[in-house]
Amino acid sequence: MTTIVHIGFGSNIGDRVSNCRTALKYLDDSEKTKILKVSSLYLTEPVGFKEQDWFINGAAEISTNMGPREFLDLLLGTEKKMGRERVIRWGPRIIDLDILFFGDKVIASQSLVVPHTHLHERRFVLEPLAEIAPGKVHPVLGKTVRELLESLPEEGEEVTRYNGDI
Ligand code: ATP
Ligand code: CA
Ligand code: CA
Repeated sequence: MTTIVHIGFGSNIGDRVSNCRTALKYLDDSEKTKILKVSSLYLTEPVGFKEQDWFINGAAEISTNMGPREFLDLLLGTEKKMGRERVIRWGPRIIDLDILFFGDKVIASQSLVVPHTHLHERRFVLEPLAEIAPGKVHPVLGKTVRELLESLPEEGEEVTRYNGDI
């Protein structure tokens, strides 16, 4: 069975754009996945732990015939292959790959929460996602990505389009 998955990606260590590009290439390499759309890149202010560089963030739409767990393992395996180390919660990282939506599935297990727990409250996720999937309905909140983006408060961390393609 083929599922349309949306992921968020981000990097704030080293060559951030190239790290994002490398991660997407790894994800496209699997025979069980195909990247359908990639958003523009955004330069975003860190959330949570402030004493770190700004992030490059984006979102992608991928079709896959993997199940959610196998797909999560692909993301975590890709992060590991690229040398990610987990040190500080919400701290600097070479690459972060999150499942935002897995079709219309709702999952709440210890290792996987889908839709992503914070997706509706993060501008750095909703801005790129709204470019590639504005009409996608959040299966729990019942609102489209565009609506979620529009209902974010004006204040909050800065998110600007990054000049430079992927
Ligand atoms: P946040 O979840 O706030 O974006 P984070 O991305 O920094 O934080 P990580 O350290 O990258 O968190 O991930 C910790 C764990 O989160 C992973 O090992 C994974 O099992 C779990 N996880 C739960 N739901 C998801 C999801 N939707 N996508 C990716 N990982 C998830
Ligand atoms: Ca994350
Ligand atoms: Ca993550």
